[in-house]
Amino acid sequence: MMEHNKYAEIAVPLPIHKTFSYEIPVEMIDAIRPGMRVVVPFGKRVLTGYVVAIRDVSELKDVKLLRDILDDSPILDGQLMRLAHWISTYYISPIGEVMKAMLPAGVNQESATIITLAQSVDVVDQTIAHIGSRNQKKILQSIRNHRRIDLESLRKETRISNLGITLNRLNSAGLIAQEVTMKTPRAKVQYDVWYRLADTFRRSERDAEKIVPGAPKQIMCLKIIADRDEIAQNELLKLSGVSRSTVDALVKKGHVVRFQKERVRQYYDGESKQAPDVTVLTKDQDKVVSEIDKFISGRLFRPFLLFGVTGSGKTRVYIEVLKKTISMGRTAIVLVPEISLTPQTVRRFTRNFPGMVAVLHSRMSVGERYDSWRKLKEGEFKIAIGPRSAIFAPLKNVGLIIVDEEHESSYKQADTSPFYNARDVAVVRGKLSEAVVLLGSATPSVESFYNAKFDKYQMLTLPKRIENIPMPSVHVVDMSAQRKKTAAPDRDFLSRELIDKINEKLDLNEQIILLQNRRGFSTFIKCSDCGHIEKCINCDITLTFHIHTHRLRCHYCNFIKKAPDVCEHCGSSELTFRGIGTQQVEAALLAEFPKARLVRMDLDTTTQRKSHDRILKDFGEHRYDILLGTQMVAKGHDFGRVTMVGVISADTALQMPDFRASERTFQLLTQVAGRAGRKDRRGEVIIQTYSPEQFSIVCAKSHDYEKFFMAEILLRKELDYPPFSRIVQVMMKGENAQNVIIAINQFKESVSIDPARVKVLGPVPAPLSRIKNQYRWHMIFKVDKRWDSTGERMNAIVRDAESKIRRYLAKETVRLHVIVDPVTLF
Ligand code: ADP
Ligand code: ZN
Ligand code: ZN
Repeated sequence: MMEHNKYAEIAVPLPIHKTFSYEIPVEMIDAIRPGMRVVVPFGKRVLTGYVVAIRDVSELKDVKLLRDILDDSPILDGQLMRLAHWISTYYISPIGEVMKAMLPAGVNQESATIITLAQSVDVVDQTIAHIGSRNQKKILQSIRNHRRIDLESLRKETRISNLGITLNRLNSAGLIAQEVTMKTPRAKVQYDVWYRLADTFRRSERDAEKIVPGAPKQIMCLKIIADRDEIAQNELLKLSGVSRSTVDALVKKGHVVRFQKERVRQYYDGESKQAPDVTVLTKDQDKVVSEIDKFISGRLFRPFLLFGVTGSGKTRVYIEVLKKTISMGRTAIVLVPEISLTPQTVRRFTRNFPGMVAVLHSRMSVGERYDSWRKLKEGEFKIAIGPRSAIFAPLKNVGLIIVDEEHESSYKQADTSPFYNARDVAVVRGKLSEAVVLLGSATPSVESFYNAKFDKYQMLTLPKRIENIPMPSVHVVDMSAQRKKTAAPDRDFLSRELIDKINEKLDLNEQIILLQNRRGFSTFIKCSDCGHIEKCINCDITLTFHIHTHRLRCHYCNFIKKAPDVCEHCGSSELTFRGIGTQQVEAALLAEFPKARLVRMDLDTTTQRKSHDRILKDFGEHRYDILLGTQMVAKGHDFGRVTMVGVISADTALQMPDFRASERTFQLLTQVAGRAGRKDRRGEVIIQTYSPEQFSIVCAKSHDYEKFFMAEILLRKELDYPPFSRIVQVMMKGENAQNVIIAINQFKESVSIDPARVKVLGPVPAPLSRIKNQYRWHMIFKVDKRWDSTGERMNAIVRDAESKIRRYLAKETVRLHVIVDPVTLF
């Protein structure tokens, strides 16, 4: 009988919206399945691709053979594959990019081109001496020096832009040879050397003295090993103080067995020794938990919004429902907004579920992340905790997904495709796996609260703080009235009220948190004489002055230059430092409160791996009186001694050109206020602002989320913003402004829409009109959600328009980004 050919549809991790057909080599037909990784030739390259489907026929004539299969079982199971397809459709993202994003970094094999000399060194040397082209000379010289060099290194070394073409010329002249090989993946299983007692020895009397009489070092080793059953080499050598050769001797004599054991690299060094949460649930908590339990027991899909003020015991509820889920034999995912900022929360989970939790962390090494991922897939860990990408944890039988602080914008992937929001993906994954999805927040996103009001989600509330601790009192200071009253002009951003209150708290030996949501010293330097402002050379952004390095820095592209002493435009020395950043606040506080122990927490002080944790820990142990920082200080920290919170300027977030500016301001103020007064003392909050009447500030003052929501939802309705429409943002980026403008206009002309269903705004330059040397223009589509509930219609429309202008984009190197449900419109 004739063998029947089979074909695999392969997605590649590139910005391409289609999949590719490959013929499956006969010997691989039985092994291959959707969700596996394969190696395929792709143009001149060799890539890791993902099997999306297996087919009996292919429409193409010359299908290439796929090279290899990398997995012995699907790396993404059926459910995760369905999730990938949903993300790809809804977020208009290429399926290959989606699948790549679902896997931990470093598991993919990539190809490398290795270049060698095809002639003897003498011949090459002669050629170099006579050759005309400088680039060819440079390349040959470099290959000659290295003998073998990969393409990327050669590119870096020679800095030739059209390297490919030049290499092809040298190739056809027979001077060099190129071959494609596979690089080994960065993430690999690692092994350690371990020892245990030999079985013969175990069975006999365990008397080390009799077995190796007169060898005290060996005796000690045997005793340690016997004590532990098995022990890692490192630890054995450390505990015993002997050298490898002593252990080797025992192995040789057959008393001890050496073996290899997989290493599980973990970011958190061991588990906290604190006891698990055992407190009796409050009445409110009990009500909430039993409502959720009904659905966990029934193994039913159900999205909940847990709306509970700060300190109302939400985390305690999470732990309770996690216990229930685990007892049902199911697994769970817990999403936290930014894991390095919430070490306390993470530890609370790990200590309640010892040995069951895998913490996934953006600051983990590739190896650490890979190991956690592997152990989740193998079923060794039952709970995955992490930031947005943890929604892709390879757990089977997920029964519960918790999204803590569901309003946080960090759940949206904003820098690279796919631009998904993990909170919304959580609801879809929950549906696929018949799980409970629990979104929690003290300040829910307008969208989620709306969904809960209109029964898409079930609303659960915890209206009071634990032990009836009162909400903090909030005092709003109008800075326009304050200005003249302050003592020193260079500290006029500190009001009299704020200074007095800080003094009062310092005298009582209580702690203070201060928020200024901008880092650096000043966000721009302005010349008082000519008005010149220092801007970044790559971006349309002012440069922030950093006082400790005396440098100007761009917070978007990291461009750095020395701060000028005089105006670069007119030479005047009258430079003013505008836009107050955390460093300037720090300097003013040190001058005003010389005795206070102050610590600053912002991106500049937390570049090291565990620096957040250290600052928070030190502050928790009262080594500092004042914690000053950006929005980082507003996260769910629980410090018993903090009785006061101050907001230096509530206006920074309000001034953003964005329809979510009010929402963000309300959330930030409410969250930071929630840090005050947790145990036995009522907290006090001071908010400084130039717009005391703005409704998000007024509502934050009275802790009135519902009032805020009602005001905000009317505005959204009036302007047809989410949740009343779905926004699709189309952004063009490129180095040449003219080409970017042409591209976005071509897009607009290519897109065919019914104005009754989709409203179009733009094209206009984005508010950040140039970043990293890229000009940015965008258009906004407001889509009627009832007309396109799954996102398939917009997907088809956008892809159709894109295909019409694809040639132009490729030719003029303009990049197109499509962002569905953007969280900012910068
Ligand atoms: P949230 O997550 O809403 O901010 P937490 O769960 O952290 O609230 O609870 C706030 C504080 O109250 C914590 O210190 C927690 O240990 C405590 N707490 C929570 N639930 C209870 C309870 N049922 N009895 C006593 N204390 C509780
Ligand atoms: Zn000037
Ligand atoms: Zn810049």
